[in-house]
Amino acid sequence: VNRQDQNILLLLKSILASFQAAASQKGVEVLLSIDNENIPCYTLYSFDRIKMKQVIINILKNALEATEKGDYIRIACKSEDPSNLLITISNNGSPIPEDVLPTIFTPFVTYKANGTGLGLAISSNIINAHGGSLTVKSEREETSFYINLPL
Ligand code: ADP
Ligand code: MG
Repeated sequence: VNRQDQNILLLLKSILASFQAAASQKGVEVLLSIDNENIPCYTLYSFDRIKMKQVIINILKNALEATEKGDYIRIACKSEDPSNLLITISNNGSPIPEDVLPTIFTPFVTYKANGTGLGLAISSNIINAHGGSLTVKSEREETSFYINLPL
C-alpha cells in the first residue's frame, strides 16, 4: 500500500460525482450522510487513495446491481473513536441469503451471470493490507458493508 495523508470526505465526494449519473439513470438515490459535528471525518488519514477508491467503487457497484428503481444507497462516514474510522455503504433491496453470505469474499465466487467474483475478494485484501477489516451485515431491510480503518 502506498499510504498518503488523504481527506476521506473529498475522496467520497469525488467518487460520488461520477457514480451519481449511473445511479440516477437507474432511479436509485445515493445519499452521503456525514454528521457535521463529526470532526474526525474531516481530518486526514493515511491510506492508499487509488486502492481505497477501488474498494469503494466495487462496493457501490455491487450495491447498484442489487437495487431497483426507487431504492437507495447510503454512504456514511463515522469516527466515534479517535483511533478508528468507519465507512458504511448500505443499500436496501433483497437481502443476501444466509448460505451465500459466508462465500462472498472468496475469489471467483459470483452469483451474477457476468460476474467475476473478484470485487469483494480484492476489496477485502486491500482493507486488510491497511490493517483494517471489511465486513458485511445483511438484514431484511438493508445490506451494509463496513470498512473499518485503524488510524
Ligand atoms: P461480482 O460482483 O463479480 O459477483 P463480488 O466479489 O463483487 O463479485 O461480489 C460477490 C457476490 O456478493 C455477488 O455476486 C453478490 O451475490 C453478492 N453481493 C455483493 N454485494 C451485494 C449487495 N449489496 N447486495 C446483494 N448481494 C451482494
Ligand atoms: Mg462486484
